[in-house]
Amino acid sequence: MPWACSKASRLGLTGLALLALVASTPVALADQSWRQGVFPVARFLAYTSPFGGRIGPDGIQEHHGGLDIAAPLGSPILSWWGGVVESMFSDGRCGLGVLIRSGDYRHLYCHLAGQVSGRTYTSGRLRLVVGQPVRGGQLIGHVGMSGRSTGPHLHWAISHRGRWLDPAAILRAMARSRPSRQVRP
Ligand SMILES: [Zn+2]
Repeated sequence: MPWACSKASRLGLTGLALLALVASTPVALADQSWRQGVFPVARFLAYTSPFGGRIGPDGIQEHHGGLDIAAPLGSPILSWWGGVVESMFSDGRCGLGVLIRSGDYRHLYCHLAGQVSGRTYTSGRLRLVVGQPVRGGQLIGHVGMSGRSTGPHLHWAISHRGRWLDPAAILRAMARSRPSRQVRP
């Protein structure tokens, strides 16, 4: 990473993170700060499949449009960013899914536990409705195995103006922009 020099780090890690993100995802993010971002799984176990080309569960080469995060069945799923619940799914791939819109970004959470009925998702006491505002870090679901899933995990995907981004690049930018890692004069 040519920008990870000591001189650049004195400028502050937030700027560095933005540079790194712009380098890995060709979208306009210069005015974006990632500190508000929340890691979407409360009981992380492992990253089980990255974004990009992969051999899928059927043994066929495919593009994987998100990041798979394994967690125990029923683990809380938290909204990555504040926004509005835009839609929800119940299909054979994503399974039960919730899509949240935050400005030009959309974030998708698949393979949830619970039920989707029309414009409402329920899981235990949790109830989400299309059009409902959510805060960053708010409980929006529980890890399940619905849809095309070989084990309990969250398929987490983020798009910007319709283009899918690598969520791992955004997680790295979030980590770099945390105040505790800022270089202070
Ligand atoms: Zn996935």
